[in-house]
Amino acid sequence: MKKPLKLFSSRRKFVKRFSQGVGSSLLLPSGLALSQWSCATKSQQGEQSQEQTETPAKKDRLGVALVGLGSYSTGQLAPALQQTEKCYLAGIVTGTPSKAEEWKKNYNIPEANIYNYDNYDELANNPDIDIIYVVLPNSMHAEYTIRAAQAGKHVITEKPMATSVEDCERMIAACKENNVELGVGYRLHYEPYNQEMMRLGQEEVFGPVKSLETGFAFNIGDPTQWRLDKELAGGGALMDVGIYTIQGACYTLGEQPVSLVAQEFNSGNEKFKEVHETIEFSMNFPSGLTSKHETSYSKSYNYLKAEAENGWFQLDRAYDYGPLSGKTSEGEMDFPQIREQAVHMDAFADSVMNGTTFKAPGEMGLRDMCIIEAIYKSIENGNTEVDIDYRS
Ligand code: NAD
Repeated sequence: MKKPLKLFSSRRKFVKRFSQGVGSSLLLPSGLALSQWSCATKSQQGEQSQEQTETPAKKDRLGVALVGLGSYSTGQLAPALQQTEKCYLAGIVTGTPSKAEEWKKNYNIPEANIYNYDNYDELANNPDIDIIYVVLPNSMHAEYTIRAAQAGKHVITEKPMATSVEDCERMIAACKENNVELGVGYRLHYEPYNQEMMRLGQEEVFGPVKSLETGFAFNIGDPTQWRLDKELAGGGALMDVGIYTIQGACYTLGEQPVSLVAQEFNSGNEKFKEVHETIEFSMNFPSGLTSKHETSYSKSYNYLKAEAENGWFQLDRAYDYGPLSGKTSEGEMDFPQIREQAVHMDAFADSVMNGTTFKAPGEMGLRDMCIIEAIYKSIENGNTEVDIDYRS
């Protein structure tokens, strides 16, 4: 049995592997900025001896500010932050005063921790906020992550990390310069069914994987939404949900692809005049395997399937908030359905507080954007094979 690669199981390992190979000139992320989170509360400070004051007490839980109170923040992240153990909902950033009032009431958020897009940078002066979580349209992730880093706050940014490789690099550099941690909202690294796919694939439990097929699609509604606006979304279904299939293949195989071929399909629907509707692509891995991917804004599927030498394993549904389900050639998978976002945010908070490794660092978001840019290049070049340029 092959030794498990555990590729990307930690930021440090990710950086090591990534920088040894394709990304040797990559800017490495920062060390921990203990001063950012180790400030004591006022009451704790009053009780401290002089000696303790010199070494401030650690916070038990870190304060998170959500930036952008749209459907993901409202439906998933805020409820998850009621279940987290290492962080809590401490603040919000919103351009809509009525939302500020509602959230203040619902979540007991102090007035002093409510910000808008004009006074965002003043978060720098707020010791209650340790982590800024950017949950804005894709093309805004870079700016708000960089400004969060400049405010001295650790940052989680939603997927896709940005809309270009260049922006991902700027985000990593800003976090490094300001000694803050950078994570991506790839919640499935902490989800048991997907973790089982990683184990079965990387440890070759059924032998080496011989084929891998994966897809994620949904029927997009409102034609006026930002997801169909190229400037805000960056791309179509690929950047939004196809990115999960890139993740799925990489973490099931414990490898990253070296080249790919992609093809676009467009029904001619007016909705898709700016962004891609359906893309199919295949990625070639160093092991010799070619994974097959599909993603669309006008279909519905959500699966990750692997066939190995001595058996098979698959999830269907694979990538959403649950319930997820999976099978292997030996029977049904049976894991708890968890609040993925709570575990993911706690893991990030733990990495900040205790130096543990976070499984979805900024470098992984950069890697995926290199792959996405190669997919667009292959389409532009008439569906030709493109080597993936993991430049930094
Ligand atoms: P949404 O449209 O529901 O919310 C977007 C928020 O951004 C709104 O509060 C909106 O007011 C605000 N905003 C600020 N400036 C804006 C502008 N110029 N145009 C449009 N909106 C603006 O979107 P969402 O579904 O919450 O997605 C937000 C981000 O979260 C996206 O990057 C998306 O990919 C990501 N997301 C991740 C997951 C996941 O499972 N990890 C799930 C859903 C969304």
